[in-house]
Amino acid sequence: MKTLIILFAALASISQLHAAEKPLKDVKDMVCPVKATEGCDSGYCSKKVKRDIFVEHEGRKVYFCCKGCVKAFKEDPKNFMEKTKEQWKVIDAKSGE
Ligand SMILES: [Zn+2]
Ligand SMILES: [Zn+2]
Repeated sequence: MKTLIILFAALASISQLHAAEKPLKDVKDMVCPVKATEGCDSGYCSKKVKRDIFVEHEGRKVYFCCKGCVKAFKEDPKNFMEKTKEQWKVIDAKSGE
């Protein structure tokens, strides 16, 4: 019986992890940190982020509007941290709904 409880607890924590990794319901109100700071010159740049353009940074996903912004972010993440943290606040507010 004890084993079953441990197993259940393990399963519960796995499903919780999974929930945190869920794709975003929507990207409304999320602003690309690169575009909000200085933008990039890809020609596809807009403030609206796309849910399939993101990188992992400090264990979290950061979403961008175009591939050029991803490149700019990777070259100098520190430059965009202020706006990145604002985006994470929006994500946290969404997941708390
Ligand atoms: Zn861009
Ligand atoms: Zn962008």
